[in-house]
Amino acid sequence: MKTNLKSYLNKSLTTFILLYTTITFSQPFTYKIHKNNRVVSLLMSNTQFNQWTGNDEFADRVKSQLLIKDVLKNVNDDFDFITLILNTDQTPTGITYAGKLSSISNAIEGIGVRTFDNTSAYGSNGRLKSIIQLTRKNSILFGPFLHELMHNWASYGLDTVGPRRGFSDDPNDFSSFFGHWGFTGGNTPGQLGGFTQSSLISNGSNSYTVDVFGDFANGGNSVPYTQLELYLMGMIPVEEVEAFDLFQDITSYSRGTKQGTYDFKANTRITYTPDALINKLGKRNPTHLNAQKEFKILTVVITTTPLTDSEWTKFDNDIESFTRKGDDGNPSLYNFWEATRGIGSLNPILTEKSTILNVNDITLTTNNFKVYPIPANQYLTLQNIGRKTLANKLIICNAIGKKIAKLPLEKTTSQTIDVSKYTSGIYYLLFQKGTTILETQKIIIN
Ligand SMILES: [Zn+2]
Repeated sequence: MKTNLKSYLNKSLTTFILLYTTITFSQPFTYKIHKNNRVVSLLMSNTQFNQWTGNDEFADRVKSQLLIKDVLKNVNDDFDFITLILNTDQTPTGITYAGKLSSISNAIEGIGVRTFDNTSAYGSNGRLKSIIQLTRKNSILFGPFLHELMHNWASYGLDTVGPRRGFSDDPNDFSSFFGHWGFTGGNTPGQLGGFTQSSLISNGSNSYTVDVFGDFANGGNSVPYTQLELYLMGMIPVEEVEAFDLFQDITSYSRGTKQGTYDFKANTRITYTPDALINKLGKRNPTHLNAQKEFKILTVVITTTPLTDSEWTKFDNDIESFTRKGDDGNPSLYNFWEATRGIGSLNPILTEKSTILNVNDITLTTNNFKVYPIPANQYLTLQNIGRKTLANKLIICNAIGKKIAKLPLEKTTSQTIDVSKYTSGIYYLLFQKGTTILETQKIIIN
């Protein structure tokens, strides 16, 4: 009997925990926007964060759709890219990558990606192209930010080959290398890997020597985009892509006899001229003349503690530097503008600034109005507790400070407003006379 009861209790405890685990994701996140309108923070509970990172929920389509939908409830849906960056020094255990991009839509022909539009599943009305997750806080400046952005366009159309598990000279350990350049040459080492074409020496008998290179990356933000990468992005015409070689059927790969080189043997060598590229991928549509050059990017910092002033400043500075349309002042790193030779740019600014309040700057002050119940389900009562107020207008902002409603304040002691149409979360009430805020209160709607 005792055993049965214990077993029953264990079972019900397990059920409870499972139930609890599934519902915590729907707990409202708290969003804040930095005063410079470039960075948003998303505050999660430790439980939510441990689930998000421990199970790599970014890679879980349903969970990432839920999260991006929630983000887009709080900002305007006018972003090409949404980047989630974890406020951690190191990549959390449970996540196996420094950065990852998930494609949401593609309308470009001739880059080896089918055209598709999956935006509605993420709460976007067609604009969102990709979402990116960076798994430690220094990856904006040092990478792999440029690398992950490149995955929006490449490399999907060429049959690249690379080692299955990092560096290896096992001839059986090479496979199709979808997404990265592998043993592909470029005018410079590519963001997605690849060797410097001009360093290639043919030793005869399918044996080659090249300068040391990375098959999937070449040093974070320390290298710019190659000609091929810029062509796929729509920045330059195909004629500007110098011929390069792509090797397949690699049979050996080792450190070269000469320092700073690799020796490899490959049975297949394909040379891509501009014409051969077009033959393989089709014509790029739109061409570089009409292709989008400026992209709107939203940066969301996922954190379990409210960002401190110095953390806000760090993320804001990093994004400003990475998206600056000019020299970032760092000779060993490239920002997006530098990496695209000043042709492409990123715009990080949240629009409709006037409707977005800097939640950081709100001081909560209760003077004349008592607001209840909190949390509110359907109705919220604003009770004037006796003193005379000049307020004649009520503004309702969501958690990120975006204005979502404006109502006249009646000259009565008590006014009831219907809040049932608002989604669960934190809201701010601004009691105003004209544009002057007289009183601010924070409420929760369930
Ligand atoms: Zn990659």
